[in-house]
Parts: sequence; C-alpha cells; structure tokens
Amino acid sequence: MKFNTKTIHGGQHDVDPAYGSVMPPIYQTSTYAQSTPGGHKGFEYSRSGNPTRAALERAFASIENGKHGLAFASGLAAIDAVVKLLKPGDEVISTNDLYGGTYRLFTKVFEQFGVKFHFIGMENAAQVENYVNDNTRLIWVETPTNPMMNIIDIKACAAVARKHGLLLAVDNTFATPYLQQPLDLGADIVMHSATKYLGGHSDVVMGALVVNDDKLAEKLYFIQNASGAVCGPQDSFLVLRGLKTLHVRMQRHCENGKTIAEFLLNHPKIEKVYWPGFESHPNHAIARDQMRDYGGMISFVTKGNNYDEAVRIVENLKIFTLAESLGGVESLAGHPASMTHASIPKEEREKTGVVDALIRLSVGIEDVNDLIADLEQAIG
Ligand SMILES: *Cc1c(COP(=O)(O)O)cnc(C)c1O
Repeated sequence: MKFNTKTIHGGQHDVDPAYGSVMPPIYQTSTYAQSTPGGHKGFEYSRSGNPTRAALERAFASIENGKHGLAFASGLAAIDAVVKLLKPGDEVISTNDLYGGTYRLFTKVFEQFGVKFHFIGMENAAQVENYVNDNTRLIWVETPTNPMMNIIDIKACAAVARKHGLLLAVDNTFATPYLQQPLDLGADIVMHSATKYLGGHSDVVMGALVVNDDKLAEKLYFIQNASGAVCGPQDSFLVLRGLKTLHVRMQRHCENGKTIAEFLLNHPKIEKVYWPGFESHPNHAIARDQMRDYGGMISFVTKGNNYDEAVRIVENLKIFTLAESLGGVESLAGHPASMTHASIPKEEREKTGVVDALIRLSVGIEDVNDLIADLEQAIG
C-alpha cells in the first residue's frame, strides 16, 4: 500500500465486525465483560487497551512503515515512556535545538533520576560519535529542529547507533511521515506529538511511538500500561479522522510554505529566513535526500533583531493566530523567546540561534495570497 492510501486505510480493516461501520466506533468504556475469569475478547481494561485506541495505534504503525504503534496522552508522555527504558547512570546524546518541553522533561525530571543528557549540535553528524561512551544508551534526534529548522542526517546517526549498540529515537513531529520515515532510515523509535500535523486540526493533545522490534515494543507497551499515560477513545477517534487527510494537508502546507519562505527571503525588512527548502540552507542536500518536500514550518528574523518589533509583528497578524503549537490547518505565528522556548535559559537559547526577534510560522492551508497579504501588513 502506498502512503496516500495508508493514511486512509492503514490498519483499519474490519474495525467493526459487529455492524461494519466504516469509521472505528468510539468504545467509550473503561472495562469489558468477561465470560469466565480471564475470558475476554482481547480487551480487559482501557488503560491496557481499547479498541478505538488500538485502531489508531495500527494506523500510526502503518503510516510510519513500522510494526507496532503506541498512542499516549501527549507527545511528552510518549517521550517520557522512551526515557523510562533507561536507568540511573545511563547517558543520552540529544539534539541541542530541541522542543522546549522535551528539554524541560530531560533536564528537570530525568536528570534527578540520574540519567545524563548531552545536548549537542548534530548538523555535523560526525560530532555525535565523540559523545559516545560505555554508559550511552540512546541518541535523541529532532529534525527539522524547532525552531531553527536545522536538518540532521538520520542515516548517519543510525550508523553511529548501530556501531555502538545504541537506540536511535527520532522526533518526527515537524516532518510527519509524509515527508520522512525515520524507521526506513535506520531509526529504532519514531516519536510524534500527534497534537500537531497528525491530528492536524488543533483540537486534541496526543503522542505516538512507532517501532519495528518486537522486544522493544513489548518494553514500551509495558511502560505505557504501567505508567498509564494513555489517550482516551474520543481523542483516538479525532486523530484517526485527522490522519485521513494528512497527505493532502501536507501537500498544501508544503506549497504554501515554499511561497511564503520565498516571499520572506525577498522582503527588505527581513534579515534571515530559516527553511530547509532553500539551496542555501546548510544541510539542504541532506533534507533533499531524506525528505520528500520541505514542509510549512518557517522561522525568520527581522533586521535589527529588535524584541519589541517582533512582538509588534506577531500582535499585528490577523489571519495568523498568535499561539503556541503548530501543524493545524490554520496558520499560527509564535515568538519562541517569550513562548515555546521561555523555559530554556536566554544564553542557552541564543547559542542555538533563538534570538529575541526570531518569529516562527506554522503555515496553514488557507489561500496563500491572504497569508502573504497578512504578513505584508504586519511587517509593514
Ligand atoms: C509539541 C511538541 C512536542 C510535545 O508534544 P505535546 O503533544 O505537546 O506533549 C514534542 N516535540 C515537538 C517537536 C513538538 O512540536
């Protein structure tokens, strides 16, 4: 099955043997009747498993070309489950330009349990191996990175992971499986904030993991059930519905993203535009190699790097909504320094390029001419 068919049908055969409903029913139940003790039809308690969630988990696996999918209450809950594979003394090599909440989870929660994190620039993948030692267990990659749109070579990281017997996890939230499929590139775990493009309508918070290895899936399922950060059946249904249009939404996100990136690049008041589709992007060649297209996430800095001017621009936008998050059908704008990256110390964030005037756009699927007119009036 090709990707555009999988988003609609992947894992969705015979979802309702009772009545043949085309969409999976919402099994709004916490428990399931047993005929004799232990005699059930595959589900006994909805933390451990729920048929609507199971349909979604099969769909996640299908679109990422994986064998096993797991759905969580949020993207961070999914990341939390991955780090719980580790024990005190273990070390993680992580991308430095990282989603703020992931950085917070790693440093504020897991460091106090004795897990050590190395945050490094991975644009040159050869760097990664320098941080491997006997305690290293996991490489954590986010690509494209947030919000600097750096591109990390997944295949090169997978080679380091394989050589040293490490796990490679890729946060694929920004790219989605429409643009890149990390398991095919050698990753062991692919993670999503399904809150973003997979759900696609800014109406649900959810996370996902997909893996191929049966033993790894078993361990993650054990953690999912033991820690209990599962999502409910209503939310599972919403994301199943969102997935069905992922491919057409992404196509438009990419088209609009390209037009807006080029508009910004040619704007006299703009100093710099970060978007992996530009040939001048330092890792454009890797992006071209591992991604199908370049997406609708764009960051830019105005000339003079003025904090107040950046705030004025995001406040003046009328079609773009000033909000955290990304990946919905509607266009959003954010000011990372004061919003998504506020939990990262100023000197840390500036090291990775998150300067005061940086503005991040999640380009939606509206008419691109309206979006450009909105940016034009707001930038002035
Ligand atoms: C939003 C996001 C997360 C966290 O996901 P939640 O669903 O908000 O918990 C992790 N990584 C990236 C890249 C994100 O954009």
